[in-house]
Amino acid sequence: MPTPPPIPVLPASPAASPAARARDPRPGLSGLDTGALAAWIAERGAPAFRARQVSDHLWSGRPGGVDALRTLPAELRAALDASFRVDTLPETLVREADGGLTEKALHHLDDGRTIESVLMRYPARGPRRERATICISSQAGCAVGCPFCATGELGFWRDLEVAEIVDQARFWRGRLAPEGRRVTNIVFMGMGEPFLNTERVLQAAAILTDPAAFGLGARHVTISTSGVVPGIAALTAFGSQVTLAVSLHAARPALRDLLVPLNRRWPVAEVVEAATGYAEATGRRVTYEIVMIDGINDTPADAEATATLLRGRLAHVNLIPMNPVAHTPWQPSPRERIDAFAETLRRVGIDTTIRRNRGIEIGAACGQLAAELAGAPAPAAVARRRELLVRESAAALLDAGSTGTPA
Ligand code: SAH
Ligand code: SF4
Repeated sequence: MPTPPPIPVLPASPAASPAARARDPRPGLSGLDTGALAAWIAERGAPAFRARQVSDHLWSGRPGGVDALRTLPAELRAALDASFRVDTLPETLVREADGGLTEKALHHLDDGRTIESVLMRYPARGPRRERATICISSQAGCAVGCPFCATGELGFWRDLEVAEIVDQARFWRGRLAPEGRRVTNIVFMGMGEPFLNTERVLQAAAILTDPAAFGLGARHVTISTSGVVPGIAALTAFGSQVTLAVSLHAARPALRDLLVPLNRRWPVAEVVEAATGYAEATGRRVTYEIVMIDGINDTPADAEATATLLRGRLAHVNLIPMNPVAHTPWQPSPRERIDAFAETLRRVGIDTTIRRNRGIEIGAACGQLAAELAGAPAPAAVARRRELLVRESAAALLDAGSTGTPA
């Protein structure tokens, strides 16, 4: 038996997190699209170039609230301050790991909640240019409750506003600017299920990819979903070239019910159909992610079921060794089993990669964030949760064995 991971400080429930304060009623400025900002400026009788000055500041990577907008007349600055927050994440703590290659930011929201984002630097390799990928949150907490995920354990607090999403990207742009570096990729793989906050996530994606705003190429933005079918349909209708990632984790329905509880609402076959619809509409490959859990979803039968499900589709599979989290007894799959799983998929022509874990030492696996500050859970609660998972996974595995692959 592998030794269980040490128990990091996890809250027992959202109630154990810092008390929520009243929300600041002013919306965040970066959540406005360029047209809306221009309209607001025009309504105040100010010339159009003032909107450009505000945009220049917002997207330059220069830090600061309304005071930093010194080029604006005082009256306009005061009006702006009365109507909007120039920065919705003014208080952030940063921690480094991997010799500075990974950085994790803990952002304080106006109501006392916290969310996290992560920067992962990839130095240039051969012909590949260096990259700086940020992993951002779409919600504070998450209601889906995947049992291997630290965010799932926290429960759900609230949806993020458009500006709270966009300002995570602005934060990292500001942090990289003095080095002469840029954010090259954005993944929605932080806290939360993006497609349970679809409208705001898509608005944020529009601003992040608008050349007059944040200005990243749509292909460099990835939205990861645990399988919210209407959200995938909304992304298809959104009509951009954003990359879609689907957190598959298991092809067999009974096992997926356990690993991704949303499977009971939107079964895996429907999720893959919707994702294939996106691939066909955009011509873009969908990434399917599988967190590899020792003895749970990494068997030859699971590999076969995944191959059957995805073969012939515009798909790419990413196998991610699970990062241990406190409330589960589960461990990452051994490397040989991940290699064998990958081989089964490659044999039927499915392009498959294995992701190296990043930032484990600071708990910065995307989707594994925001736990430490909130207070320790009672050890008895952790023990109960672990026992329950062992029982449930035993039942799911038996069931998966008898139901075989999905139709
Ligand atoms: N809610 C969305 C996006 C955030 S989770 C989703 O589930 O897709 C982002 C990714 O982190 C998911 O693929 C998730 O499976 C992964 N993840 C969560 N917990 C993890 C863990 N303990 N180890 C490795 N990856 C994990
Ligand atoms: Fe939510 Fe994604 Fe974590 Fe599942 S893996 S609990 S959907 S954040």
